Amino acid sequence: MKVVDIRTHVLLDPGFDVDATSSAQDTIVVEVETDEGIVGIGETDLNAWIARACIEAPGTHTMDRGLKQMLLGQDPLDPERLWQELYVGSAMSGRRGAVVHALGALDIALWDICGKARGVPCWQLWGEATRTELTPYASLQPEVDSFDGYVSSMVGWATRARAMGFRACKLEATFSGPYVHKGLAGPDERITEVVTAVRDAVGPEMTIMVDVQYAFDSVERALKVIESWDGLDVFFLETPLWTDDVKGYAELSARSPVRIAAGEWLSTRHDFEVLIDEGGVQVAQPDIGRVGGLTEARRVCDLAANRGRLIVPHAWKTGISVAVAAQLAMVTPHMPFFEFLPAELCESRLRKDLTHDELVFHEGSLRPPQRPGLGVELDRDALEHFAAAAKRIA
Ligand SMILES: [Mg+2]
Repeated sequence: MKVVDIRTHVLLDPGFDVDATSSAQDTIVVEVETDEGIVGIGETDLNAWIARACIEAPGTHTMDRGLKQMLLGQDPLDPERLWQELYVGSAMSGRRGAVVHALGALDIALWDICGKARGVPCWQLWGEATRTELTPYASLQPEVDSFDGYVSSMVGWATRARAMGFRACKLEATFSGPYVHKGLAGPDERITEVVTAVRDAVGPEMTIMVDVQYAFDSVERALKVIESWDGLDVFFLETPLWTDDVKGYAELSARSPVRIAAGEWLSTRHDFEVLIDEGGVQVAQPDIGRVGGLTEARRVCDLAANRGRLIVPHAWKTGISVAVAAQLAMVTPHMPFFEFLPAELCESRLRKDLTHDELVFHEGSLRPPQRPGLGVELDRDALEHFAAAAKRIA
């Protein structure tokens, strides 16, 4: 089998808001086509125009070649060998960051091809199932601009998630730092107010995770907030400190009574080795596209298992990213939850319309994926609609 074409689709929600902090308003989708008619799809989470450039840019010498250029004509059925070739062949532009994120979309599409070629879901290419059902958590991020509205909206969504059967939810409670929403800036005590209101509303059974999106500028400030959560039973705190503050993570992870989670922006297992071994985090959160695709995400899972850490991946894009995370969860026993945006609980048109999903949420869990490959299909009309919106602004 040979790769004969690679198409990159830059997609945009026409109702996008440049002041929003959600990366689910645009996406890059790749289609890798083979001479046997099998087409694999992939996605990654970075500026979609930059992702396209990373894939389509030609190269002029051996250590800085183009990703598309390298992949055309190759046998797609050995993604691990191809990963190494693309990584080394783009080393002078890549090794980390955008080029590796873009490589991730291609790698995901290659695994989709492998599953389709064998007639099995991707997870069966990697081993035995380690679970009989998947446990998603609901990511909740109200788009409102007053604190009172935020608390009532968050409580409403969490209550709805529980009524739908979710066993876990994550609260985006960000009132300072780079991700703060319009009109929501305020003192750190607000975070605890949100968590308390949700815990009171959903009761003791539901798992609650909290994401403050890089809000704290010191370990002491983070600890002060965490120490006010006594009795609230928070499963983890996500990205309390800026991502480059590895020393801060080390100190906080050692002193915090609540697990510390981070890693959504990192690329390659090498970045995760630093985050875990030097930063000490208890929960590693690769975004499967950004880290370099399923090939590299599986290596991060192995690294975390060797160090006795949990994996809870980041996934904030379309049904493709959700399907990819579900495939990985099937063979990863130390992945207690994965991020799941049910259409009913999210604002993103791309999440709602772009794909026909295999995964059906029922009473708090999802059945193991069974369709060949990733188990997700593109809606061509939606693809064209979002592609036209992207062309209008570029
Ligand atoms: Mg986050």
